[in-house]
Amino acid sequence: MSTTPNAAGLAPATLAVAAGRPARVQGGHINPPIPLSSTFVSQGVVTPDELSYARGDTDAWHPFEQALAALECRGGSADGEAAGQAIVFGSGMAAIAAVFSLLPDGGTLVLPQHAYQAGMVLAHEVSARHGVTLRHVDIADTDAVVAALDGADLLLVESPTNPMLEVADLPAVLGAARARGVRSVVDNTFATPLGQQPLLHGADIVLHSVTKYLAGHSDVVLGALVTRDAELATTLRGHRTLHGAIAGPFEVWLALRGLRTLALRFERAQVNAAELVRRLADHPEVAEVRHPSLPGDPGHERAKAQMNGFGAIIGVRPRERAGVGPVERADAVVDAVRLWLPATSLGGVESMMERRRRWGTEAQTVPEDLLRLSVGIEDIEDLWADLDQSLRA
Ligand SMILES: *Cc1c(COP(=O)(O)O)cnc(C)c1O
Repeated sequence: MSTTPNAAGLAPATLAVAAGRPARVQGGHINPPIPLSSTFVSQGVVTPDELSYARGDTDAWHPFEQALAALECRGGSADGEAAGQAIVFGSGMAAIAAVFSLLPDGGTLVLPQHAYQAGMVLAHEVSARHGVTLRHVDIADTDAVVAALDGADLLLVESPTNPMLEVADLPAVLGAARARGVRSVVDNTFATPLGQQPLLHGADIVLHSVTKYLAGHSDVVLGALVTRDAELATTLRGHRTLHGAIAGPFEVWLALRGLRTLALRFERAQVNAAELVRRLADHPEVAEVRHPSLPGDPGHERAKAQMNGFGAIIGVRPRERAGVGPVERADAVVDAVRLWLPATSLGGVESMMERRRRWGTEAQTVPEDLLRLSVGIEDIEDLWADLDQSLRA
């Protein structure tokens, strides 16, 4: 693990490019190599810092883990607080499973009523198998979240939420959890570490579907956790080793390659999204637009206070038409796009959309005709022209 450059004081866009770079030596690599070794030369007692078998640890993970930790933990206190560690997993769901493994049998999990749907399905499975009580809350309702924390073991936060884009008051809910000794995890997939840093607001763990913005090219499935708590990191890494929820060397290399351009990609996607939101709000074929950039959005002020930008995911409900059901109407818009891709997932360079309730596991309080738009980095006028014609079709 000798490749971390001294990251102190570097701006996030620079960290995304420079953190986790190989050591600067004559003839050395600019990019880390892709080490393909399932085992390592080792004899006798192995210390935790030594590589021995690639399910437990491999240098294939370290450059990406260092870069992500540098981004999520930057700007923390200068008083010697642990810098933080990232732990890469084979998927975002594997990372969520590792976090849920912290719950004791019969414990209590506080979680958003709207959140990533497979995570909710897993929470219900954990609940059924381990007698864990689930307390679903409106994560934007701070009083409700705080009230639900009494006697809880773990708070899961998503902000903005998937797909409703509700914004939690991160300092308030994470501070309340900390004050009550309730461990907290924030899914930071939508905001990225450039958009917000939950660890600075008091989160114990940050979670990512690396599949989305961090890798950014819709070509890998990966996840990660980040924490400043060294003991917790050891526990989570131990879960990864025992459950085998590990990432392949090629995939992690691609994720680091993607991370290098995160600042440019996310900046462009956010600018595109804000402009599309502005135009959609005035569109005759649109009934509702959800995005924290809208001054009238319930999460607008909070997002302004705790985020850098408003993200690049938009919720849209098409205006209904006589004789056409809302589901049919929304599906017709998705059918009509030519440049936008009808696909699930988000955070790639390409713009995508889907009607979320087509998934049977999506929360029933999500409107049936809500389209989730993931805005990419294409030319804004091309995106607008296609969106406009699909809404009018
Ligand atoms: C996609 C996603 C996940 C799950 O990640 P995978 O990489 O698909 O396993 C978790 N949380 C959010 C917010 C997501 O969008």
